[in-house]
Amino acid sequence: MAEPMGFFTDTSVCIGCKACEVACKEWNQLPARNGGKIQLSGQSYDNTVSLSGIQWRHVKFVEQFSPDRSTGRWLMMSDVCKHCVQAACLEVCPTGAIIRTEFDTVVIQQDVCNGCRACIAACPFGVIEINPETNTAMKCTLCYDRLQAGMVPACAQACPTQSIQFGPISELKQRAQERLQQLHEQGVTQARLYGHDESILGGLNAFYLLLDKPEVYGLPSNPQLPSRNVAPSAALSAAGAVALGLLGLVGLRKQRMDRLAAEARGEGEGSHAG
Ligand code: SF4
Ligand code: SF4
Repeated sequence: MAEPMGFFTDTSVCIGCKACEVACKEWNQLPARNGGKIQLSGQSYDNTVSLSGIQWRHVKFVEQFSPDRSTGRWLMMSDVCKHCVQAACLEVCPTGAIIRTEFDTVVIQQDVCNGCRACIAACPFGVIEINPETNTAMKCTLCYDRLQAGMVPACAQACPTQSIQFGPISELKQRAQERLQQLHEQGVTQARLYGHDESILGGLNAFYLLLDKPEVYGLPSNPQLPSRNVAPSAALSAAGAVALGLLGLVGLRKQRMDRLAAEARGEGEGSHAG
């Protein structure tokens, strides 16, 4: 396998220009939302709203303003598939359509996907959606075709501030640590990394520098694999089955005792009558 490759997204320098969204759409020939008719979402300056089967990059705008809006800031974050080292989508796919590539990225093979939606339910980040034009599940491929040709993914190439950085994961991690230290030295104490180590799904090959808690950006602080939930729920089911079994035994025993008592009473009544 080639060296694991991925994205380090430094949200502290994102200016919300959405060039990454446009470059992604253009390269991957993804159709326009709503047939190209512009609809204002009413959510800050974000009118593309979320990731979807036809929107593989999405720039979030998080408004943090005082009640009178005299002070505040926007947090901007270009969201994408995290190319998880332990990928829930890949784990649940029943057709083997989702593969791990030689770059350690996660790709949905369109000709094998049957549109069953299992991956959509499994992804803890809400990344995957059905593309209505193909009826298959779609998401960022980390520009697999470009990587195979030795090119940089379209979004990273287009980003004017280097908020999206592409490269070998080991190198990106080092850059991220240096940037974090720099921000802390400048007094930006809330800055933190997300997905850079193994604590989140074995590591995210698209990891982030955030300026606030993950939840503020709509990211789960402790995402789980579906298999992680299997053991506790299986244990609960087993405990439930044992409890039901015990209740059944108690019920049977009580029935037997009642019957014996009734028989004893019947004999007693019979002896009085005699
Ligand atoms: S973020 Fe979701 S879609 Fe992307 S690899 Fe992880 S589980 Fe799969
Ligand atoms: S291109 Fe770069 S600066 Fe512009 S929105 Fe995307 S990540 Fe932010």
